[in-house]
Amino acid sequence: MADKGLTCTMKASYKDFALDTSFSIKEGELACIIGPSGCGKSTTLQLIAGLITPEEGSIFLNGKDIINESVHERHIAMVFQDYALFPHMSVAQNIAYPMKLRHMPKIQRTAEVKRLLALVSLVGYQRRKPQELSGGERQRVALARALASQPQLLLLDEPLSALDAKLRKHLRTEIRRIHEETGITTLYVTHDQEEALSIADTIIVMQEGRVSQIGSGEEIYHKPNSLFVASFMGEGNTLPYSLIPRNLATQPGMTKETFKPLEGEHTIFFRPEHVTMQDDVQLPLPEFFPHLEFKNAQVVGCEFQGDHFRVSLLWEGHTIIAHTLDRPRSELVRLSVRIGKLREFLDGQLVRN
Ligand code: ADP
Ligand code: MG
Repeated sequence: MADKGLTCTMKASYKDFALDTSFSIKEGELACIIGPSGCGKSTTLQLIAGLITPEEGSIFLNGKDIINESVHERHIAMVFQDYALFPHMSVAQNIAYPMKLRHMPKIQRTAEVKRLLALVSLVGYQRRKPQELSGGERQRVALARALASQPQLLLLDEPLSALDAKLRKHLRTEIRRIHEETGITTLYVTHDQEEALSIADTIIVMQEGRVSQIGSGEEIYHKPNSLFVASFMGEGNTLPYSLIPRNLATQPGMTKETFKPLEGEHTIFFRPEHVTMQDDVQLPLPEFFPHLEFKNAQVVGCEFQGDHFRVSLLWEGHTIIAHTLDRPRSELVRLSVRIGKLREFLDGQLVRN
């Protein structure tokens, strides 16, 4: 077990829900828990914070099992989606509150509030009341207040989900910056994959009360170990494995017999950005690597997404999504996907890397 950082193993249940989870994050790391609504993300944070008690388990924080410690003894701070600021207190009073509880002398408190206001970019806001702040500013105050208690672990439960898209993007960058400046071990819950991919050192994907996969953003995105993780983290195409022998553009030294479907639900998965699209079906594809070819795919939809087009295609009854730089110019196109970009699953689980 790692001495520093967080290592937890916990079981808990509600009437219709069972949580059985186990993971570690390193000291100083920013880890994101991600998963669909109702998979147990908030429950996991509440267990770690001590707001609910697990049926069994252990929670080691920097080498010490804190499972029997109260919420206040744990040196953990939490930020929620809905700010939870004290409405009658000013920004400065809100931030100073945890320090007051710890009987920090006033002069030190004032200096600390000043430092924290600068950290969250709210210099000059100290006298305002929460209702005089925007949603984003309130969340900055909530973050400063959480940091004021000098926690060993910071828990954030969907802190940005009440904000609009642009502000969310800006604040997540700010949270990453603040994390780097403070170095506090942070566990950040979100249901937004893009948010997790952009700020996390480590991503913990949860499904139905369990951890599905832990890894860096790139590992989770490019090397998902289950169809669930593959499909949850961004968009993808899932097709029967039996299509490979038919659609393989053979290369010297490659036999189609290598690609025998296995018993069960044997599928291939690939990302839309790995699909190459050729308008003119007569032209050979400029492809030197072993690849799958889908000839005469029919364009059934095309959405402009700003930096790419999201093209929906139909090939022999299978839907394929491609992300392309150019709008398709004909209704029938030829698609190709490199063999190296395929992920292979049997009954939802990874077959080979
Ligand atoms: P998430 O944060 O991933 O959306 P939660 O951890 O809030 O999920 O909830 C996980 C499951 O536990 C859900 O099915 C939810 O309905 C259930 N649940 C959460 N809190 C309670 C509670 N206090 N009583 C009963 N069931 C609960
Ligand atoms: Mg939740």
